[in-house]
Amino acid sequence: MIGKTKLTLSINEQVRNDVQAVIDERSLTLSRLVENYLKFIIKPDMWCFKCGEKFCIQDVDRCPKCSYLICSFCSACRCVLSDEAAIAVFHSNKIYQHLLGGYLE
Ligand SMILES: [Zn+2]
Ligand SMILES: [Zn+2]
Repeated sequence: MIGKTKLTLSINEQVRNDVQAVIDERSLTLSRLVENYLKFIIKPDMWCFKCGEKFCIQDVDRCPKCSYLICSFCSACRCVLSDEAAIAVFHSNKIYQHLLGGYLE
């Protein structure tokens, strides 16, 4: 088993102070939060909007027609959605874009 290592970060002081309230409220640790985020950056998972299965963003292809990621379980992409559903998916996926620093764009 791989052990733990120390990590020194320099972050915005206000952010550091504000996150402490969240950590206390949800009985988390800053180490766990940072580790979870780094794991997500290394191997970002996503849940298919159609079948709900989890797949890794890096493991799937993009549809040449709509350029959306193609689910490795049900092969769904933007092409199977109505315009209204596609808009909902597009806006929901902004959280991934935000967390991944624009990787999906
Ligand atoms: Zn699917
Ligand atoms: Zn498509």
